[in-house]
Amino acid sequence: MDRGVVLKAPGAVALEEIVVSEPGPGEVRVRLEASGVCHTDLHVIQEDGWGHPLPVLLGHEGAGTIDAVGEGVDGLAVGDRVVLGWKTACGTCVYCARGQPRLCKKPPAAPGRLHLGDDELTPVLRTGTFATRTVVPAVAAVKVPGELPVEQACLLGCAVATGVMSVLETAKVWEGARVAVIGCGAVGLSVIQGARIAGASEIRAIDTDERKLEQARRFGATHTGEGPVDFAFDVVGRASTFELALSLLAGGGTAVLIGLSPSGERASIDLPTLFAKRTTIRVSHGGDHLPQEDFPRLAQLALDGRLDLAGMVTRVIALEDVIDAFEVMQRGDAIRSVVKL
Ligand SMILES: [Zn+2]
Ligand SMILES: [Zn+2]
Repeated sequence: MDRGVVLKAPGAVALEEIVVSEPGPGEVRVRLEASGVCHTDLHVIQEDGWGHPLPVLLGHEGAGTIDAVGEGVDGLAVGDRVVLGWKTACGTCVYCARGQPRLCKKPPAAPGRLHLGDDELTPVLRTGTFATRTVVPAVAAVKVPGELPVEQACLLGCAVATGVMSVLETAKVWEGARVAVIGCGAVGLSVIQGARIAGASEIRAIDTDERKLEQARRFGATHTGEGPVDFAFDVVGRASTFELALSLLAGGGTAVLIGLSPSGERASIDLPTLFAKRTTIRVSHGGDHLPQEDFPRLAQLALDGRLDLAGMVTRVIALEDVIDAFEVMQRGDAIRSVVKL
C-alpha cells in the first residue's frame, strides 16, 4: 500500500494510505526517494487547499526513480533518477506559441491517478511528493545525474530553481553587479548562490533573523544590511520589504518580486523617484524556470561544486515527521528539512 501526507479537510493533515494507479498515456509513475519541505505546502494548508480541491496530496519538491512508464513516453525508462518539475510548459498556450514558455501558466497535469479511498486526490502543484509514489506527466519528470545525492537533487525542484533562476533568468544579473536579497530562507539563500554564480561583486543579505544572516555569509553574501545596489530581490513579498527593495536601488536598478504576498497587500511607490532612477520592476514566478532546461543545468552546477546543495539540507526526516517539520520551518530552525523515503 502506498502512503502520503494528505490535507483531508481544512486544518486536518495526516499520513494516509493512498491508491496510486498505473500511469496513463504520456505519463510516468515515480517512486519518491526525497522531498523538501517548502513554505508553499504550509500556504496550501493555511489557505484550505489554496485552490486545490480537497483532499490534497501535499509536497511538490521531490526526486525519485521512474517506477512505470505510460504509453507513448519517449526518453524515460524504469529506473531513471528524476526530479519533478511543477512549472513545465504546455506548448500550446499564447505564451508558448509566441516562444515564451517560461511565462506559461498552464502546466500539464495527470488527473485521476491518485485516490484516498473513493475520493480523487489533488496533488499540490500537479506533483504530490510527500508520498511513496506519485504519477505525473512525463514532461514533468526530468532526468538528473545519479551521482547527485537524492536528498540534494530534490531541492532543484522548487527552492533552488526559484532562487537561482530569479537571478540568471528573471533578472539576468550581470558580472560585477551589486545585489541585495531580502529574506534569507532556502529561496533567499538560493538567490545569493545565483548572484555568486552570476559573478556579482557585492551581495547584501537582509533578514530580521541573525541566524539567517550568519548562514547567508556561508552561501556567498559579502555584506549584511542595507546599501545601494543594482538588483534588489524581495523574497518575502510584503509592502515593507518591497518598498525597501525599491529604496535600495541605484540608478537603472531592478527590483524583483519573488515572495508570495497575502491577498490585498499593497505597496506604495514614489513615482518621481521611480522616474528619476529609471527603475525596472520585474516579477519572478518561481524564477521563471523551465524544468527540462534548468534542472540539468543546476544539477551540473552542483556537481561542479559551484552550487552548494549539501549545505542547504539541514534536517533529514521520515514521511511521518512532515507535520512537525512545518513548525520547525516557521521557527526558522532549519534551512531545509528533507523527507527521505
Ligand atoms: Zn516550493
Ligand atoms: Zn503554455
